[in-house]
Amino acid sequence: MLELVYRAASVHRQFNNTAEVQVCTLLSVKTGGCPEDCAYCPQAARYHTDVKVHGLLPTAEVMDYAQKAKAAGSTRFCMGAAWREVRDNRDFDRVLEMVKGVNAMGMEVCCTLGMLTESQAEKLAAAGLYAYNHNLDTSPEYYEEIISTRTYEDRLNTLGHVRKAGISVCCGGIVGLGETHDDRINMLHTLCTLPQHPGSVPINALVRIKGTPLENNPKVDIWDMVRMIATARILMPKTMVRLSAGRTEMSIPEQAFCFMAGANSIFAGDKLLTTPNPAFEEDNAMFSLLGLTPMEAFQNEVKSNDSKLEKEEVLR
Ligand code: SF4
Repeated sequence: MLELVYRAASVHRQFNNTAEVQVCTLLSVKTGGCPEDCAYCPQAARYHTDVKVHGLLPTAEVMDYAQKAKAAGSTRFCMGAAWREVRDNRDFDRVLEMVKGVNAMGMEVCCTLGMLTESQAEKLAAAGLYAYNHNLDTSPEYYEEIISTRTYEDRLNTLGHVRKAGISVCCGGIVGLGETHDDRINMLHTLCTLPQHPGSVPINALVRIKGTPLENNPKVDIWDMVRMIATARILMPKTMVRLSAGRTEMSIPEQAFCFMAGANSIFAGDKLLTTPNPAFEEDNAMFSLLGLTPMEAFQNEVKSNDSKLEKEEVLR
């Protein structure tokens, strides 16, 4: 483990400023009532959870939240809607307005809205969308155990549309779904052999929510998170590796190990979609203790086609 972390830290130091960590905020703009069956998700309509269902939030409310996130130090604002896929309707038009509004604030604006067509990806790009999140969740082999309502191929197609529209791809997965080490390796292999390394790769620890099929899964071991982050960092040297869900159950020393292993982004704010997350003040205190500083916006993304060249350099 220590040798792995040492190597990952060396790669991280070679390609990134290790003192900087990007602070992102994720807001659920439409919550619950989702027709999908993702086994970990409290927003799936078929599971009985405590999630309070609501339709698309008013645009002004979302803008207000984004302003507050920016004032607290966030440089990326991600809006999540519990949709199976985007429909070309008034709600989508409103999301486009929100994208324009957040973009005008000078933040990296990201969305996670489910599956997208090519033309929807183009509309989002034209509105100023910087990144689109669509996770693979797990390996191609284990995927059917977790989701039956759409295929791995569907996910890869959406990622292709996002990439084609020139939007930065944010794509990662979840540790603790019951997958094996081989599944974790295969998920990382899928990610690092996409036509371009994703601009960001969120690594989530399962948050076990009462009422979901995975509520009784064992707690994710911190060393499994460190191992995933370190391996992702070595495989995708310039990608933003995000230490995402599950931080409320991690101590500061445990999170420090994740940063050491190459994580250079976190989600801040008291909610991560519908699950609890450390508040801004707690993270500021942690940053000051560890000598970390929040990264400026638009600093460290793999956005262009030259990532292929960078990859070749790394392999050499
Ligand atoms: S993860 Fe997304 S697609 Fe799956 S059930 Fe939850 S909201 Fe729906």
